[in-house]
Amino acid sequence: MKHPYCLVFAAIVKIYVDDEYFVMKKNFKKILWILILCSFVSCGKETESRTEFVIGTVCTITVPKNKNSSRILDECFKKIKRLETVLSANDADSELSFVNQTAAEKPVTVSPELLYLIQTAKHCAQITDGAFEPAIGRLVKLWNIGFEHERVPAPSEIENALYDVSYKNIVITGNTVFFENKNIQLDLGGIAKGYIADCIVAFLKEKNIQSAIINLGGNVYAMGKKFFTDAVWHIGLRKPYGTADSYNHIVKVTDTSVVTSGIYERYFEENGLRYHHILDVKTGYPVRNNLVSVSVICESSTYADALATAFLVMGYEKATQFIKNFTEKKTDAIFIFDDGSYQCTNENIMEKQDD
Ligand code: FAD
Ligand code: MG
Repeated sequence: MKHPYCLVFAAIVKIYVDDEYFVMKKNFKKILWILILCSFVSCGKETESRTEFVIGTVCTITVPKNKNSSRILDECFKKIKRLETVLSANDADSELSFVNQTAAEKPVTVSPELLYLIQTAKHCAQITDGAFEPAIGRLVKLWNIGFEHERVPAPSEIENALYDVSYKNIVITGNTVFFENKNIQLDLGGIAKGYIADCIVAFLKEKNIQSAIINLGGNVYAMGKKFFTDAVWHIGLRKPYGTADSYNHIVKVTDTSVVTSGIYERYFEENGLRYHHILDVKTGYPVRNNLVSVSVICESSTYADALATAFLVMGYEKATQFIKNFTEKKTDAIFIFDDGSYQCTNENIMEKQDD
């Protein structure tokens, strides 16, 4: 390990963290090991770190230690838990679930947070030409990948779940949301962790915190400079299919988010075929191309999250073309292919480690 103190193993956390509780129980030892490793990596004499299993994943926040840090970390996790009650598609009592149940009947007034995220998700869908598709909820529930009773649906079920599904059928007027047909169900799982990370960053800034690492199940935000130095953060990206502590790329960033979408974490196998959780609305099936993961580097964690999902669906050529034309936010990406090779849109921000 080159810089044990500052490396953040985003993807180390990511392998186990997205599984359901029953899977978590099965992998308890491994998870414990990872938590210990994470606290070793991110804790030090002068920093304070907290890890909790929330939003279906392991979340760790590390800040400089002082008399307020413990209370600030408490408040961060309170915020995450509150946002979960707004944004979760897995909780029948969340605000999002209420919208999914009622918005095809009449416009529903939504909270400012949900409104902002639906607007942003729609925008991400527009700019990626539907590769990121937040109206995909019915299809996600049909496959149920990562949850109990995950299965390969019949082609007719897929066809029905996709009928008239498009972000274009989500109508936002003022602070209300309306679905133009009953097939529209919002799933913000591909963008909400990024948004929650951005909310935590805003909160920490309010509290005058200059440096922090926020890691929401591999959705990382590196705030400011490496603790107590003037150096940038080094974020380690896990080797796809590698062991939990193996990494072969390091991204050097400051005040930036690094978000990875991969096909090697949340999946199931049937008849020798692997079905992962990133779905292509054009086919209704898990996306199949030569990418195994995409890491997006962007100052907005919300966009990094949505774009990482979208780029995996778009494939390398379309995604790099998109980045060239995308002037709204400075965005870079690292693409890892199924033969182990990689491409990065900006070699200045990354280091390749020896295998
Ligand atoms: P990403 O690539 O960022 O997102 C993939 C997810 O986005 C898929 O799982 C699907 O939900 C959706 N998606 C798939 N294809 C597309 C597409 N083409 N366009 C747009 N979206 C797509 N997990 C649990 O196991 N239990 C929980 O209780 C639970 N609660 C959660 C609550 C919240 C608020 C959030 C944000 C997440 C929660 N999760 C939970 C995890 C969630 O189910 C997703 O698995 C996770 O957000 C996926 O993130 P990712 O980084 O792995 O992949
Ligand atoms: Mg995403």
